[in-house]
Amino acid sequence: MLNVVIFGAPGSGKGTQSERIIKEYGLHHISTGEVLRDHIARGTELGKIVDGYISRGQLIPDDLMVRVLASVLDDNPEKTSKGVIFDGFPRTIPQAESLKKMLAERGSEVHAVIGLEVPEEELIRRMLQRGKETGRADDNIDTITKRLKVYHEQTAPLREYYKQEGNYLPVEGSGDVDRIFFDIKTRINERT
Ligand code: AMP
Repeated sequence: MLNVVIFGAPGSGKGTQSERIIKEYGLHHISTGEVLRDHIARGTELGKIVDGYISRGQLIPDDLMVRVLASVLDDNPEKTSKGVIFDGFPRTIPQAESLKKMLAERGSEVHAVIGLEVPEEELIRRMLQRGKETGRADDNIDTITKRLKVYHEQTAPLREYYKQEGNYLPVEGSGDVDRIFFDIKTRINERT
């Protein structure tokens, strides 16, 4: 079993690299952003609640987000048995503590936290490009600016949290996608 958190600012390549990691290690991909966007697209009650937060570039409150994650884990016990890549979760220290607890209750833990480190100008350029290509609603300059501010204030402190936990593995996240993936694999293999 291998549980990996892929960590980084919005636009740092978490989704792209997660796709490769799941193929290489047979992990189950849980992207909380995708789970929420799917609820919005289906018009569920949860989708209606989270839509406003996402379009304002704000985080969904921790208690709600933790419940969403727990239900995704419990709904997919077979798929998650080889391990999970957590993409976009945790985004706050309380979420990290909840994740630790949820995994401990299931007899497991976070084995590695891959931190994708990308300069801010490149993050903005990538998200604007993604917005053009996919039409993703929160990839517009106003919401991007808010998401980056939220990242610095609420999510970046997790780097220190995981450094103290002893499982933070930084990876240079700009440049060639294959080189970045090679570095991620090297980092994960060193740990397992
Ligand atoms: P992402 O696709 O990971 O960039 O997430 C898109 C948006 O979904 C974020 O800007 C947040 O509004 C919301 N979101 C996703 N994951 C979380 C989380 N773990 N905690 C709070 N909000 C989240």
